[in-house]
Amino acid sequence: MSKSATSLKNCYFCGEHISAGHGVMLIKNDGQIQWTCSSKCKKNLRVLRRDPRKLKWTTKYVKGGLRVKK
Ligand SMILES: [Zn+2]
Repeated sequence: MSKSATSLKNCYFCGEHISAGHGVMLIKNDGQIQWTCSSKCKKNLRVLRRDPRKLKWTTKYVKGGLRVKK
């Protein structure tokens, strides 16, 4: 196992930096790897299927709310 690459992850959901040895790795059916910092983010991403831009506790939150074209 190489140590160098493990500390460069950011949470796929909330955008927080994930330190080495932490986080939950999710592998999608198409082979894409998604790292999340916690089971909270994992749940929001995979089970609740929330948009991180709509949640204030993520770094991806868009101030004033996300404008969606309809
Ligand atoms: Zn996270």
